Amino acid sequence: MLVYKFGGAAVKDAKTIRLLLPLIAEQKDSPLLIVVSAMGKMTNAFERLLSAYRSNDKEKEAFFDSIKDYHYSILADLFEQNHPIFAKIEVCFSELENELENSAAQAYDFAYDQIVSFGELLSSRILSDYLNENQLLNSWVDVSDLIITNDKYRDAHIDWETTKAKVLHWMNRAFSQVNIVVTQGFIGGTKDGYRTTLGREGSDFSAAILANCLNARQLTVWKDVPGILNANPKEFPQAKNLKHLSYHETVELAFYGASVIHPRTLQPLKMKNIPLFIRSFLQPDLASIIDNQNRFDSEIPTYILKENQILFTISSRDFDFIDAEKLTAILKLFSDFHFHIRLIQNSALNFSLVADENPLQLEELLFQLKTDYSVRYNRNLSMLSIRHSKDNRIAELFGNTEILLEMQSRASQQFVMRSDVLQNKMAEINRLV
Ligand code: ASP
Ligand code: MG
Repeated sequence: MLVYKFGGAAVKDAKTIRLLLPLIAEQKDSPLLIVVSAMGKMTNAFERLLSAYRSNDKEKEAFFDSIKDYHYSILADLFEQNHPIFAKIEVCFSELENELENSAAQAYDFAYDQIVSFGELLSSRILSDYLNENQLLNSWVDVSDLIITNDKYRDAHIDWETTKAKVLHWMNRAFSQVNIVVTQGFIGGTKDGYRTTLGREGSDFSAAILANCLNARQLTVWKDVPGILNANPKEFPQAKNLKHLSYHETVELAFYGASVIHPRTLQPLKMKNIPLFIRSFLQPDLASIIDNQNRFDSEIPTYILKENQILFTISSRDFDFIDAEKLTAILKLFSDFHFHIRLIQNSALNFSLVADENPLQLEELLFQLKTDYSVRYNRNLSMLSIRHSKDNRIAELFGNTEILLEMQSRASQQFVMRSDVLQNKMAEINRLV
């Protein structure tokens, strides 16, 4: 059994979808599970669509139509006019319309998962029918019936026991009839049958969960970049390919913000020792492999730049220590309000924390924190993380720069600063990459 995950870039238009046919056809003799993301940037579009309906924006219908048009233009390119896919997609859009009408009265996180999951439902339906049309016979499955989660909407946690049983049961039956199954990334379902999502960019994680349950031989994540690079080539044109990394190193890179792979992807793979291939659907011979060998991890230093960071400095008002109990309560607030934490530093009276911006919930978070603490925060920050750097030119480079927070460990260095300050240093950093 192989698992292939296609991200949004691999299904963003008819032209790229056509490129996938030979990649899938190559594998048609061994069972293949395909996990697909929403097309292109559709998840962002569905997020905005939901906001438009909740705020009763006068443009909401026009926005709905633009999402519909985008999908229909891909359909028109891939299928004959009278193909049954058109009717299936029409049904999806009328269900979506109903859900949107209900969404205003629902809790935001719940509504989000019911709406945004349509991105993956649509893309997987379209891909499945397109493969069937091209002699790659497959079954389509709604993954919310298989990946069972709790009801922490937008960041749902997996019920592994139930998931394993359901995946094995359903997949064994499906693969006794076809060689290919197509399903969605990003989505799960509660025991009561409501859709959940696993967090943004969660499709990689979905693919890893399914690979784990099925004891897959390998997972391949298909992207529009040639495997894992030691820096983001959009920011650092000199970036080099990392051909072989360990699970451990990859988790660290992902955690600091390298957009290679969702950080939760690695654990289910490591548990079963399933190798992960990151390959380019544009240049399929270029790949990175991730497995349990670590001898190549420190060969090439990596540079990870994470923008839109916010630094919180939380201090006790009464000169009381911020002890473990208080830390627990503070961290719980960050989790409740969906702030993804990247870095933590504490002293007796101060607790500093760097997290991804989440402008929608910032005010609520601050309100809660301020009931017990005094809170300062800086926005528009960037965090540069460097792993396995063998020289100290980086430290010299920031010698006379205002660094708001700095952290060093044996394998990594991190610098948090204002984004404009970092931008001024980019050319110099590029020389080190
Ligand atoms: N479509 C979802 C997102 O863009 C999940 C994924 O692509 O991994 O966040
Ligand atoms: Mg995506």
